[in-house]
Amino acid sequence: MSGADRIAYFNGRYVPEREVLVPFRDRGFKYGDAVFDTTRTFGHRVFKLAEHVERLYRSLRYLRIDPGLTQDAIVEITGEVVRRNLPLLEPDEDYWVTQRVSRGLDPSAREIWPQPGATVIVECVPLPLRERAPLYRDGIRVMTPSVRRTPPEALSPRVKTHNYLNLIAGGLEVSAQDPSAWAVLLDTSGNLAEGMGSNIFLVHKGTLLTPREQAVLSGISRETVIDLAREAGLQVVEKDIDLYDAYTADEAFLTSTSLCICPIASVNGAKIGNALPGPVTRQLTEAYCRFVDFDFVGQYLKRLS
Ligand code: PMP
Repeated sequence: MSGADRIAYFNGRYVPEREVLVPFRDRGFKYGDAVFDTTRTFGHRVFKLAEHVERLYRSLRYLRIDPGLTQDAIVEITGEVVRRNLPLLEPDEDYWVTQRVSRGLDPSAREIWPQPGATVIVECVPLPLRERAPLYRDGIRVMTPSVRRTPPEALSPRVKTHNYLNLIAGGLEVSAQDPSAWAVLLDTSGNLAEGMGSNIFLVHKGTLLTPREQAVLSGISRETVIDLAREAGLQVVEKDIDLYDAYTADEAFLTSTSLCICPIASVNGAKIGNALPGPVTRQLTEAYCRFVDFDFVGQYLKRLS
């Protein structure tokens, strides 16, 4: 069995992925007028699905898109998509699991495609475990491009929309200089904001520093790390942090659904800390593994051999 056998939910039906054909007059395709959210499985169990679907609905409300389904229905559909696709996974693989909702078709398109409301897709795809495995051995090389993160005055970065062009433009600039580096964009004031799919944390003298939520997507993994750190008695401060803070940090790491926690080796070529991972990053990684009852670092690292 292969990816060709995967099933997705598409506007009320469970169909093979190749049958998910979105009309070119869909506003998601035309304008990026759509939102999405992505969680993952750990050992085939879906992580914080309710929290991800809640964030999806906050994105929908911000953009005034009516998905035509309740939150509970999306949770149920997501569970069903995962159930139908789990037999395709190897025992030590896991899925990214995504809900996508666009505003739907422009009225002029209805003559051809009689779809009245939103376009709703729920799909999954295996995590890129092999490609990302070296990051847990070597750490991530972060670079900050000249492109700045969209400021909240223009469009709230807390919304997870189908338009990632701002982050993509930043990523292009970085990969032209170092193809394996990851871009973390600064905000318009020169503070660290976030990466294309990740939040950033610094460790200074045992205290965690991370950008304020108004300036970035409130990552579910970011939230998880903050909770775990506070439970462990560590101080967490959400505030403006800049490149001075990064270059002088004892440790730094990125969080995301797929990475969970992954150490940063350098920022703009400046090496961070002496050990990889540093002691606080290691402590939080262990706490994260216990919390999800799954050794995600081992899952990545075993792909190296
Ligand atoms: N920032 C952006 C812009 C993202 O796309 C993501 C990925 N959803 C994150 C941060 C991390 O969020 P999460 O931990 O929920 O994956």
